[in-house]
Order: sequence, then C-alpha cells, then structure tokens
Amino acid sequence: MSSEAERTMQFVFALRSRGVTDARVLQAMEKIDRGAFVRGLFAERAYEDMPLPIACGQTISQPSVVGLMTQALDVRPRDKVLEIGTGSGYQAAILSQLARRVYTVDRHRRLVRAAEQVFRDLGLANVIAMTADGSRGLPDQAPFDRILVTAAAEDPPGPLLAELRVGGIMVLPVGQSDTVQRLIKVVRHEDGFDYEELRPVRFVPLVEGLGDD
Ligand code: SAH
Repeated sequence: MSSEAERTMQFVFALRSRGVTDARVLQAMEKIDRGAFVRGLFAERAYEDMPLPIACGQTISQPSVVGLMTQALDVRPRDKVLEIGTGSGYQAAILSQLARRVYTVDRHRRLVRAAEQVFRDLGLANVIAMTADGSRGLPDQAPFDRILVTAAAEDPPGPLLAELRVGGIMVLPVGQSDTVQRLIKVVRHEDGFDYEELRPVRFVPLVEGLGDD
C-alpha cells in the first residue's frame, strides 16, 4: 500500500474510533485532503487528530470534531448550508461534498482569500466564501436548511436563529471562550426551537465586527 493510502486509512480509522460513523461524512473526509488546508510548520501534522494553528491567530478544528459536527448537522444533498467561521476552509470543503451549496463567511479577509484559493485548486465549485461578520447572519441568502457555527458565542445569535428554515438544523458551540463550551444542536419547528446538548468542545470565540486583515 502506498504511504498516502496508508495515511488515509489511519485518518479514517481515527475518525471512526472517535464516533464518526456516518458513511457519507466518512467518504467526504476520506476524499478531502486536510493537508491542502494546513500551511507551514504544522503541515506535516495535518493527518493527526488535533487542532492546528492557521493564520490570523485562528485554528483549524480537530478532524474528529469536524466529523462529529458534520454528522450532527445531518446535511441532505439538496441543502443550502451556511458556515460561520471559514478559517482554513476545511470544514466548508467537507460540507461541499454533502450539500447543494455552501456559503461560508469569516471576519478575516486574509483567511477567506486563502480558503478560496484552496477551493479553486480542489475544483470545489459549490462553495462561496465571503468576508463578513457572521454573527449578523447572511440575510441576502437566507433562509438556510443547515447552519454550522465554528466559533463559540455565549448564546445562539438571534440573526442565525432567524435565518434557519423551519425544519432546519443549526449546530454550534456555546459558552465563554476560556472555559469548556458545549456543542449544541438546534432544530427549528413551526412554533419554536428544540435544543439538544451534544458534547463539550473548545473553539475560538465568535467576535463581532470585521478583522483588520
Ligand atoms: N471552520 C474552520 C475553523 C474555524 S476557527 C476550519 O475548518 O478551518 C473559527 C473562525 O471563526 C476563525 O477563522 C475566526 O476568524 C472566525 N470568526 C470569529 N468570529 C467571527 C464572526 N463574527 N464572523 C465570521 N467569522 C468569525
């Protein structure tokens, strides 16, 4: 077996052993090379199950957390998905394999530009990245079938709840940034929202306003 095939097998094995069992999610994570999203010093650790530093003082999430969040989001092939917190673009690339269209926003223009380049290199034509303050949602493209937030807010932001379609699902970490946060799943019904707590997680904070780079 080539070393690349072996590396992929180990990567997928680690995901399974941490509870990522959905076949479509595993297939997407097998196909999208995390190595394309990690630059510089840490590039050689791209296939380990750990978060890694990226530009602008941010992080690319741990693969198993990406897998568990994607699994909880239960994306269907016709869905229009919004991700808040593009970061490296890795999570958006995974979503692009499962959804019809993915909008991803980040407050740092520099991260958005770098992610767009990787999407082009990988030929991912159904991901649209934008520089914006995601805590305000993306009103021009709302409503969304699925919303995934990859930065922690104290509470689910009101504009995002408002942009979730009835029957839609949002997955997000909530809690203060320097403590353990909880990953929650919100389902919108005709007459309100259901909240389910999934697991403890640790994310960078959702910060209002645009970054200066
Ligand atoms: N999903 C990313 C990791 C996200 S790290 C990946 O797969 O690599 C969290 C990201 O959220 C950071 O890039 C940060 O800049 C961004 N962020 C924080 N607050 C934000 C806001 N209000 N609007 C948009 N992006 C935000």
